[in-house]
Amino acid sequence: MNRIALAQKETAVRDTRIATLRPIYLDHHSTTPVDPRVAAIVLDTMVNAFGNANSVDHTHGEAAMDLVERATAEVADLTGSDVSGVRFTSGSTESIRLAIGHAIAMRGGRALRIAATTVEHQAVLDAIGIGVRSGLAEVLWVDVDAEANVRPESLQAALRESVDLVCVMAANNEVGTIYPIEQIARDVHLAGGKILVDGTQAVGRVDLRVTDWDLDYLAFSSHKIYGPKGVGALAVAGNDVHTEITARVLGHDGTLNVPGIAGFGEACRLIGLEGVGDEKRVRASRDRLEARLLRDLPGIVVNGNRGNRLAHNLHISLPGLPNDAVIGRLRNKVAVSTGAACSSGAQTPSHVLKAMGLSEEMQEGAIRIGLGKYTTQDEVDCAADEIVAAAREVAESMQGVRG
Ligand code: PLP
Repeated sequence: MNRIALAQKETAVRDTRIATLRPIYLDHHSTTPVDPRVAAIVLDTMVNAFGNANSVDHTHGEAAMDLVERATAEVADLTGSDVSGVRFTSGSTESIRLAIGHAIAMRGGRALRIAATTVEHQAVLDAIGIGVRSGLAEVLWVDVDAEANVRPESLQAALRESVDLVCVMAANNEVGTIYPIEQIARDVHLAGGKILVDGTQAVGRVDLRVTDWDLDYLAFSSHKIYGPKGVGALAVAGNDVHTEITARVLGHDGTLNVPGIAGFGEACRLIGLEGVGDEKRVRASRDRLEARLLRDLPGIVVNGNRGNRLAHNLHISLPGLPNDAVIGRLRNKVAVSTGAACSSGAQTPSHVLKAMGLSEEMQEGAIRIGLGKYTTQDEVDCAADEIVAAAREVAESMQGVRG
């Protein structure tokens, strides 16, 4: 059996395992399982196309570079970018830092004026924080409403302050709210600024077009779209930006992660081909789960913009029920989370829910559920039973304490 056939056989076994994996995995905002077809490409690249893509003296290098170029075309296709505007990174965090680092470098000494929404991911907040602490950037905050939508008047007020760079995510990683990027990019450009879009949760799920919408920077990551971890991209509207990034921010490029890049390209191709159908099914499953929870858990609140959120997102608050107690009871049965999986793994109150103005009780009872393309109906129904049972147990134990 050749290596690819072997990989396919192994991944078929894994496919079956995914369907029966316990605890039921409902934390797809944090990361997604690798699609077995992607894993087969990664393995094949590691074993058969192991050349250094920068080796120009032999065909091993050439074969590796071919794979990188193919992946570049897939990334560009998915995001409506020009191939010359795609740069591979280790993931969104690095893409975001590169973009902000580049924008700072282009200021030539004067502090970069950044406007950012209060619900940006920690990766954006940290990158801005580094700039601010070192005196290279200053920040204006753009407020959101109770559903995490950007408040237009707050954005317009920031744009009147002649900001250089506006950071807006395409979709929120906690409550799933989707942002009107095309419109915001137009407003930012009219005001003379540039836009950095964190597309980590949205690429492949929400329409985003780098060239048509003239997005100055779009950051995203492979492991949110069933690709391998540790690889992502920064797509930019102007291809000369990459030359500047290399010259001003990076200095030079190292050896490329060819297996990761090839897998990422395949993940982009697959979500481009199958994403619409997958989303339809996932949305129906999410709605089924939501309906069950709304029916069986009195007082439950669904957070975010219910009419305009990611199809796989279900973010709930169970007022009066501490989320750690509920999630603790679910630990071996259903994998859900209190919110963003930050790099330290530390549990801190969610800045997103705070920015939305949720009461402390609603913040403490918040649970993020994220479905995926492999989530089955059985898993949805079983997860609903488990979540309802866990919430009831916690409510009873709290009544016992109070009583
Ligand atoms: N931005 C958002 C909205 C995210 O959800 C994440 C990951 O959770 C990141 C950035 C960081 O992505 P990465 O893990 O690829 O560095």
